[in-house]
Amino acid sequence: MLKYLLLFVVIALAYAFVKTKARKLEKTRSNEDHSTPAVEDMARCAYCGIHFPLNEGVRSGGLVFCSNEHRKDHLKEKDKSSR
Ligand SMILES: [Zn+2]
Repeated sequence: MLKYLLLFVVIALAYAFVKTKARKLEKTRSNEDHSTPAVEDMARCAYCGIHFPLNEGVRSGGLVFCSNEHRKDHLKEKDKSSR
C-alpha cells in the first residue's frame, strides 16, 4: 500500500514538474512573440510629428522627416526664423 502511495506521489511530482516547465516554456514563447512583430525602428517627423518607419524617412542635420517635402519645408521655416 505504501509502495503505491509513494508511486502516486512520485508521479504527481513528475506531473507537476512537467506542467510548470511547460508553462515556463509557454511564457518564454509568448514573450518572444511580443518582441518579434516586425521590429522596425520608428522615427518621428521633425516637421509634422507623424510616426513612420525610419528606413522610409529622410535624414537631414540630425533630424528625420517623413518625406523630402517636409525636410524642405522645415529648412524653409528654419531660414525664416533665423532671419
Ligand atoms: Zn512630416
